[in-house]
Amino acid sequence: MTEIIRNVRGMPDVLPEQAVYWRHLEQTALALLQRYGYAEVRLPLLESTELFTRSIGAVTDIVEKEMYTFADRNGDSLSLRPEGTAGAVRCMIQHGLLHTPGTKIWYQGPMFRHERPQRGRQRQFSQIGVEAFGIADAGIDAELIIMSHRLWQRLGLAAKIKLKINSLGNRSERQQYRQQLQDWLRQHQQQLDEDSLRRMETNPLRVLDSKNPALQQLLAEAPTLLQQLGSASRAHYDQVCAMLSASGIDYQHDDRLVRGLDYYSHTVFEWQTDELGAQGTVCAGGRYDDLVELHGARPTPGIGFAMGQERLVALLEQQSLAASAPLLYVVVQDASLRAAAMQLVERCRDALPDATLLLDHLGGSMKAQMKRANRSGAVLALIVAAEEQQRGEVSVRHMQSDAAQQTLPADELPGWLAGQYASLH
Ligand code: ATP
Ligand code: MG
Repeated sequence: MTEIIRNVRGMPDVLPEQAVYWRHLEQTALALLQRYGYAEVRLPLLESTELFTRSIGAVTDIVEKEMYTFADRNGDSLSLRPEGTAGAVRCMIQHGLLHTPGTKIWYQGPMFRHERPQRGRQRQFSQIGVEAFGIADAGIDAELIIMSHRLWQRLGLAAKIKLKINSLGNRSERQQYRQQLQDWLRQHQQQLDEDSLRRMETNPLRVLDSKNPALQQLLAEAPTLLQQLGSASRAHYDQVCAMLSASGIDYQHDDRLVRGLDYYSHTVFEWQTDELGAQGTVCAGGRYDDLVELHGARPTPGIGFAMGQERLVALLEQQSLAASAPLLYVVVQDASLRAAAMQLVERCRDALPDATLLLDHLGGSMKAQMKRANRSGAVLALIVAAEEQQRGEVSVRHMQSDAAQQTLPADELPGWLAGQYASLH
């Protein structure tokens, strides 16, 4: 027998039932981003490997062990993008779009990381990302965070998602801190686990976000980056915090929030939830003032964030999206009536441009069709039967309440349905 081929591990399908939530998330997010002046870019999924090693950092989890890298038929080393910022920066530089300060862009699509698949962690996952270039002022840091908070509100998720922020300072402050932290970690070597001992040498800041509970207690005693900041960096951070407070946004300063990529500087933040188990970060980002220069262009500040769509969809699925249920499911007594029923439904679609109206095309007994009407979750079932049709009438059954079945003139159906729809929305 021919073997059935399955999807690649960690790269799941999104089925229609879930896609409703994806669409809702995307439409809500995109409408909001537009209101803040972000313009769309569509970026390739494959880039030269060097783009990522250079910007993400050679000794990060992503570059060391998570990238899908291969030589193509010309022998060029290419990688599936593990994140969006590197490609966005490349695109902006390449097309001279950084000449206009204040350019804001967004993008959406799949990212690829060879991680261990588990709840909230996949090998292909999707992000909605935003980046703002050429703005050094702390106002944009705050605006990005306020914008994301507005999105959680729009999605009904604000109560479930909490903000953590920190400042990584500038390059030299980070460098000094790196040394200080490394010295401190060396003094406490005997208490570190294997992973942290390795990171202590290669990328000591990453020790700070160890998930090991025993270590977390020890790390609470470590010197902090905030103590290391000069007055300009400290003022920038204080301004961001003050603007968040003024906007009524709760935040928690977290000395151990360092993020997994090397390019960040100054403000970094994560939005986290307790409702998804271990993988609780739904949106993460920060400032990257050195990244554009690192790619050989004129120094240009930048800041952005990326939302993990799977994790947000998982939160949305905990609520129901009542609006997605069809308004009407049309069943016909016998197949000869379907053409007339179709014309009637089309007239209703003219009158209700936003409602979902379904016509049963599978036929069979009334019982079988009503079963499908029920399964569709429709609010109403329309029954087109021969005798009534001759009188120019149709019957409507209320599927979600005990209201009695009613008969009405077919001509009045579109107007009557519009009234029903309005009362539901
Ligand atoms: P984590 O700490 O969960 O590994 P990260 O710091 O590697 O996250 P980022 O690179 O900041 O993640 O990506 C931003 C967001 O993208 C994350 O907050 C998360 O919502 C989502 N994300 C990252 N990796 C994955 C993955 N493997 N599967 C699903 N979503 C992911
Ligand atoms: Mg990760």
